[in-house]
Amino acid sequence: MNFDALAARFPSLPRFALLKVDLLRSGVRLEAPIGSRYYHHHDEAGQKAVADARVHMQGSIELPGGVHAFVRHNATSPYALVTDPDTGAMWLAGGAEQSPITEVTPGPRLQWPGQRTSRGTPQGALFTPSLGGACGPVAIFLLRYCEFVAGDEECRFCSWVRMGKSHEVRPNVDDMREAITSVWREQGSVGYLAFSGGSLFNRTKEADAFLLYMNAMRDTGERVPPTVAAIQALDRADTARLKAAGFDYVCYSMEVWKDSLWPEIMPGKTRSLGRERWMDCLKAAVDIFGPGRVMCNFVAGVETAVPGAFASPEAAAESTLEGMAWCYENGIYPKYSTWIVPGGARYSDRPPAPLEYYARFLPGRQQLFAQYDLPVPDTDCPRCLTESLEADLARLDPARYALGPAAVFLTGRDHGAAHGAVA
Ligand code: SF4
Repeated sequence: MNFDALAARFPSLPRFALLKVDLLRSGVRLEAPIGSRYYHHHDEAGQKAVADARVHMQGSIELPGGVHAFVRHNATSPYALVTDPDTGAMWLAGGAEQSPITEVTPGPRLQWPGQRTSRGTPQGALFTPSLGGACGPVAIFLLRYCEFVAGDEECRFCSWVRMGKSHEVRPNVDDMREAITSVWREQGSVGYLAFSGGSLFNRTKEADAFLLYMNAMRDTGERVPPTVAAIQALDRADTARLKAAGFDYVCYSMEVWKDSLWPEIMPGKTRSLGRERWMDCLKAAVDIFGPGRVMCNFVAGVETAVPGAFASPEAAAESTLEGMAWCYENGIYPKYSTWIVPGGARYSDRPPAPLEYYARFLPGRQQLFAQYDLPVPDTDCPRCLTESLEADLARLDPARYALGPAAVFLTGRDHGAAHGAVA
């Protein structure tokens, strides 16, 4: 089916929204130079060798109207990114005929991830461009393995754990200093710095690694942009340690709202502390970090991967929206990333969520923006939310959303500087 025919099936979704969400759920064949080398397992030795090096590339494209979308290679995608041989312009093509859909602007192609420190460490293994965001956000992966893998308990949507095999490392401050200096030098600014990694059943030990790396980051003497710790939900005392260490935000992601799906989709998180305790930890974190400074991500669409879990795709969308409303009610900022199927996860053989799911979910999420006034985190901006449409859709209806946080884009401090630096 070509894109026009698809758009005719979903008249309630703006064309750009439909295109972005379909690109995310389907991936794209990278037939044009795009993105930066990505170290899935965040060290060189652990990176799985593959026949097609495009599997290790990640980046973003800008669609008309300032819509930024994350792209990574999927050899079976109906979409392709191609270069016009006459003009050199980049186009998105699709359908059986591979007809041109729209011209696109490639996102940043950064040099620093392909360079090495004086010790020979790939800088892309120390810091990672975060989801191709155009304001230069970076992530640092500190626990380079996940204990959930040992017992086949990894999250079923997670491709990270199967793209290689790695081991725990200690931060090397000299390596980090060289790498982050290169990042600042090339990018001019950094939208945010996300700390992330695999999980441990001992969550206090997991938190220790975040403190270790935050301290190492400070020891580099370089500027530290807004920071977020994306970690398993911690008990009150450990959350307080993150706050004291200087983290601006924590993100304790529930991923899926429906309780009966937790053991099915997140067996490791279920055994580690379970949904009820996870929610208790989220609420305790708001006491410590303050309303809006605690985030919770949902993998929008993965609920549809379990046969029979919901009567319809729309019912699945309603479930996640219910979870997001619960977050708002408790001062927790709800986020989502569109479920991306390809890439080695346990669920990589499942079909992506039907578009009917997103036709219900996307307007529902925007309705929550209108309903609640929790501020948008400093880490979010329209150019960096490459895996969700929350900022893109909020701009559609200024009358409705003008007073809501999504229209304001509180992208202060360094993220604001990042806009000026790359605009
Ligand atoms: S906790 Fe889940 S999402 Fe995170 S690394 Fe482990 S398996 Fe992947």
